[in-house]
Amino acid sequence: MAVTRLTLRLAQQLRVVIDGILDRTVRELVEAWARAWQVIDAEWVAAMDELVEMSTDGQWPTAAQVFRATAAQAALASATREILDLSEFTGVTVVAAAREVTEEVAVWQSRLIASQLPRTAAVGAMLRPMPDQVLAAIVERTTEQIESRRQPLSVDAAEAMKQALVRGIVVGENPRVTARRMVDRAEHRFNGGLTRAMSIARTEVMDAHRSATAAYQLEQTDVLRGWAWHAKLDTRTCPSCWAKHGTEHELTETGPDDHPQGRCARTPLTKSWAELGIDLDEPDSLLPDARASFDALPRGDKLRVLGPVRLKALEDGAIGWEDLSVLRTSDGWRDSWVPVPVQDARRSLVSVAR
Ligand SMILES: [Zn+2]
Repeated sequence: MAVTRLTLRLAQQLRVVIDGILDRTVRELVEAWARAWQVIDAEWVAAMDELVEMSTDGQWPTAAQVFRATAAQAALASATREILDLSEFTGVTVVAAAREVTEEVAVWQSRLIASQLPRTAAVGAMLRPMPDQVLAAIVERTTEQIESRRQPLSVDAAEAMKQALVRGIVVGENPRVTARRMVDRAEHRFNGGLTRAMSIARTEVMDAHRSATAAYQLEQTDVLRGWAWHAKLDTRTCPSCWAKHGTEHELTETGPDDHPQGRCARTPLTKSWAELGIDLDEPDSLLPDARASFDALPRGDKLRVLGPVRLKALEDGAIGWEDLSVLRTSDGWRDSWVPVPVQDARRSLVSVAR
């Protein structure tokens, strides 16, 4: 009940810890991709030189010619090998990060709970440990999810590299420039795999952290009454997460189910001190009110968060605060709360104006 200044500080510190693990993981992925490209760069330069040479009348060689070209085939073979290695590396790295964040859960959650109770309360005795098999099951599920998401990545990336060889450009007057441009394009395609790997890392590590947090909190039904959707209320946070901040949920509810790469937290809420048999006056909750915080922002910041259409729709009463967040269902991933699309906000504005 009583979210205190300490609760907020701990929630912020926890965010920094998780962000740190995520940032490190992403950096490792970026470095791995850069290293891999360095390994194959010279081969791609040679391949493109060869293909430019084979071009007649400015026409890129045909697919059949490309597949007979020696340097091109060597370049493709090494790219495919590097991509397979990278996919495997992504799996290992992200699973390790997911395991690491789940291991942080119990200690941070117990601190967050203690911060809401009087110093004199024997919090340690009230809390139950997280069963090992529950944690193991979460890591297992996360691993499966990461594996199933990273595998198509290598197939798609290998195909993209093949296309990079076949779909040439008109060979200009300066063959060297053409070859360089083609190498740049190939590198860009190669890095498409990195973008997907980073998204897998950001999403799956956060979800592993949330699942473990949910499991831990569910063990604490004697002390907890639920959890609060906890966003960082700044201009980098999306309209949906602003609208969801502060909403209270049952312990059995999963979440916060924010969008891919969302970073909202599931902050535990203790039962009232009276319910817990603590005979002291309980202070009010200091969890900031999202709407009041938003209203207090300078106009430029409001625009940065909502954009002009949603802001006008909100100010004109065409949509309510809760309407800023809508549920999206998708195949292959969990339901998620996302910002109301701008065109929907515009439609509400139009129908109000009529
Ligand atoms: Zn968001």
